[in-house]
Amino acid sequence: MRRFRVPAIVRWFFFKRIWRIEDPNGVALTFDDGPTVELSDWILDELKKHEIKATFFCVGSNIAACRGQYERMLAEGHQIGNHTFRHEKGTGTALPDYLNSVEETDKLLKSKLFRPPYGRLPLSYGKKLKDKYRIIMWTWLSYDYDKEVPTDQILRSAEKDIRAGDILVLHDNSKVKDRLQKLLPEIIRIVKDKGLEFRLISV
Ligand SMILES: [Zn+2]
Repeated sequence: MRRFRVPAIVRWFFFKRIWRIEDPNGVALTFDDGPTVELSDWILDELKKHEIKATFFCVGSNIAACRGQYERMLAEGHQIGNHTFRHEKGTGTALPDYLNSVEETDKLLKSKLFRPPYGRLPLSYGKKLKDKYRIIMWTWLSYDYDKEVPTDQILRSAEKDIRAGDILVLHDNSKVKDRLQKLLPEIIRIVKDKGLEFRLISV
């Protein structure tokens, strides 16, 4: 069974990481893995149409390959976070290599926000990063990347589960393109129908 909301025990255990925003009327919309040629422009058009600002956790090597999309994110007032250089998994990468990957990306995007790929970050790695970065996790995971989860199930969870203070995760990744294009407009509508607004994550 997929858990759309992160269990409280996990948040409690990693209490130094950021799981929510302090906002009684807002949620934070975040996109991981971009920028991409295939999807970023579509996402940016959609956000512009609804006057929404979001946070993009970018992969360093993708910034080099998709400079135009990255510049557009900045120019349109979105927030940028660090998501390593090659989307390394914290549990499968040696600490020095992992820290290098984060620093290489920092040279490109200069952000105080960091999100570990796959949400995998051993405590000892987090300790090395926490003085320089706010480690941003999430409250509600969309499963946009998991084709075994039907989109109508995702939208039912969005209706039922999303609430004020949540950090929502979607993906800017060509593999999720069709599903994301179906999900994003609906998730925006659901959040607005709940009377919530979209906020950036405080730095
Ligand atoms: Zn990722």
